Amino acid sequence: MSKYTIVIHGGAGTILKSMLTPESEQNYISGLQNAVNAGYEILKNGGSAISAVEAAVVSLEDNELFNAGKGAVFTKKGVNEMDAAIMDGSDLSAGAVAGVRNVKNPIKLAREVMTHSGHVMLGGSGAKEFAINRGVELASDEYFFTKYRYDQWVEIRDSDYYQLDHKEDNLKGMAHEEKKFGTVGAVAIDEFGHIAAATSTGGMTNKRYGRIGDSPIIGAGTYANDKTCGVSCTGHGEYFLRAVVAYDVSCLMEYKGFSLKDACNEVVKNKLVKIGGEGGLIAVDSFGNYELCFNSTGMYRGVRNAEGVNQVSIFKDE
Ligand code: ASP
Repeated sequence: MSKYTIVIHGGAGTILKSMLTPESEQNYISGLQNAVNAGYEILKNGGSAISAVEAAVVSLEDNELFNAGKGAVFTKKGVNEMDAAIMDGSDLSAGAVAGVRNVKNPIKLAREVMTHSGHVMLGGSGAKEFAINRGVELASDEYFFTKYRYDQWVEIRDSDYYQLDHKEDNLKGMAHEEKKFGTVGAVAIDEFGHIAAATSTGGMTNKRYGRIGDSPIIGAGTYANDKTCGVSCTGHGEYFLRAVVAYDVSCLMEYKGFSLKDACNEVVKNKLVKIGGEGGLIAVDSFGNYELCFNSTGMYRGVRNAEGVNQVSIFKDE
C-alpha cells in the first residue's frame, strides 16, 4: 500500500483568529495549500521525498507572507540573512546554509551544498560564492524588501530586543494586513519509503552578531532518517538548539521505541515547555504516520497523503 505523505509548516507562535482578517486568513490558507500541492504532485508522480520537500519550501519562500526567502525578516543591521537546511533520510546526507544574503531560494542552495560541495554547511559570503559557482539564482535587496517586515524592525531596531516573528508584541499598533508570521518547512515520505526534511527561515527580527538559529542545524531544527522519522521545527531557535529537538524525536523512537506521536509530545509539550521554548514541529515516520505538534497558540500547517487526507490549518483545535 502506498503511504506517501507530505506535511508543511509556515511558522508557529502567538497566532489567534482575532489577529487575522478573513481575507488575510484566506491568503495564508491558499499559500499553505499551494505549498502542500507542490510537494504532493511530485510524490503522486513517483518523485522523491527530497524533491517534494524542496518544492514545497520553494513555494513558501516565494510567498512574502512567510518569514523565509522573499518575506525574510530584517536583522539589527537592516538586512536579510537567511538560514536553510535539507536532509535525505535514505543515506543521512544533508546540506545547510547559514547567514546567506541575496539568495532567492536558500533551500535550493542547501540542496546544492548537500549534493555538490563535499560539505554539510556553508555560511555567509562563502555560501554566496558557492551559489554563484553553482548558478543558483540571486536576488537584489529590493526583492527582499517588504514594508511590514521593515516596520516590524524599525519598531525595535534601537533596542537590544530581538523577537520571534510571531510574538503578540510584534503586533502592537499594526494593521491586520501587517501581522505576518513564519519560518517554513516540509517533511515527506515517498512511495519508496524514503523520508526527507527541509526548513528555511529569515530567523528572528533584529537578530545580531551573525546569529544563527536552529533551522539550519542538522539535528536541532531539521533531521531525517528512513529508520525513524523526518522533522522540521519552528519556534524560538535558541531553545530548540539547546534541546536538540529534531534528533531527540528521532532518538526517542530509535532507542526507546516511542511512537512518533509520543516522541513529538514528549519533546514539544514536556521537554521544551520546561525550559521555556515556544514553538512546534512537523514530522512523518516510516509508516507514513504524521504529526503537527506545537505548544504555542497556533501553527501554520498542512498535510496531504495517498489516503486522501488534504488539510491546512492555522489555529489550535482545528
Ligand atoms: N526557529 C527560527 C529561528 O530561531 C525562527 C522561527 O521558527 O520562526 O531562527
